Amino acid sequence: LWSRDAADAEISLRELAALAETAGSQVLDGVLQRRQTPDPGTYLGQGKAAQLAAVVQETGADTVVVDGELAPSQRRALEDIVKVKVVDRTALILDIFAQHAKSKEGKAQVELAQLEYLLPRLRGWGDSMSRQAGGQVGSAGAGMGSRGPGETKIELDRRRIRGRMAKLRREIAAMAPARETKRASRKRHAVPSVAIVGYTNAGKSSLLNALTGAGVLVENALFATLDPTIRRTRTPDGRTYTLADTVGFVRNLPHQLVEAFRSTLEEAGDADLLLHVVDAGHPDPDGQIAAVRAVLADVPGAMDVPEIVVLNKADRADPDTVDTVRRREKDAVLVSAHTGLGIEHLLERVAAALPRPGRTVDVLLP
Ligand code: GDP
Repeated sequence: LWSRDAADAEISLRELAALAETAGSQVLDGVLQRRQTPDPGTYLGQGKAAQLAAVVQETGADTVVVDGELAPSQRRALEDIVKVKVVDRTALILDIFAQHAKSKEGKAQVELAQLEYLLPRLRGWGDSMSRQAGGQVGSAGAGMGSRGPGETKIELDRRRIRGRMAKLRREIAAMAPARETKRASRKRHAVPSVAIVGYTNAGKSSLLNALTGAGVLVENALFATLDPTIRRTRTPDGRTYTLADTVGFVRNLPHQLVEAFRSTLEEAGDADLLLHVVDAGHPDPDGQIAAVRAVLADVPGAMDVPEIVVLNKADRADPDTVDTVRRREKDAVLVSAHTGLGIEHLLERVAAALPRPGRTVDVLLP
């Protein structure tokens, strides 16, 4: 990643490691390169690339993940030097999306993004290196960066890939009305919805469990057929609401990938309340908050939804860091999804922030 200061580069590299772990990899080592501009040939430059090759040999790594976006020629040149598969940040994120996409629309969005990424890189795929390193591309267990469209799809020529992309776009457009109906019915039944947003690894799914574990889970046959990341629960005074987990944000999200989470993000724009979960144990929580808000700014309606900032992982947070964040985010709630600290208080805050049916007044403008 090309950044101005070394500390920022290191945080970004740690994040990349967390993402790789989310994708199911074991991270062995990190190599940092300082340059004015990326090397057009090998991205890192010959000397650093040779050093990286030595690290790969020593550790027995089977994949190199680069924190940036590689041109197809740079990826091939690096692979020639390090002799293992090279994956860039975008491919890694796409891989995580592919693992997490559950809904029909989510899957279609992710495949579309994968094909968009693949199209200009077509020559580099299916070469001897990725076969040797990853086995059959697209097969289960082929490893990071190769999940997704199966081998036959990857070997389609550009025209057929474009055809597939057009078909996916049509399918996605056709799915929109179904989503509208779902939303309309939610509004008709006046069940308020809470969307949990936040950075990858901030503890969103842990918090979803902590909140619904402490509250009363409502089992409902209709709801059981919906996305498993949506739960129904109740406020202490008995009002029902939904809690939805969303796909984690990442810093410097490649812009072409924003569409791939659209279905999840739309949920955030449509919610009555956002729980913005932040890892208070992270060295730069402010940076994470800013990153999430920067992406939410692109989601229609999301900036208008009331938000509660939840500082999670209180059990391992540095008190000074927490103080710094709280000076800016005055109403932030400090919790630990692990120890349960602050969860009761958060449930009360959620209850207070949810719209009360019958008490709100809709103002209709002429
Ligand atoms: P998500 O990616 O945002 O859904 O995050 P997860 O819920 O998967 O949590 C990411 C990591 O943080 C996991 O290893 C969790 O065990 C850990 N974690 C979550 N909440 C807490 C917490 O309150 N305290 C500590 N120490 N770790 C936590």
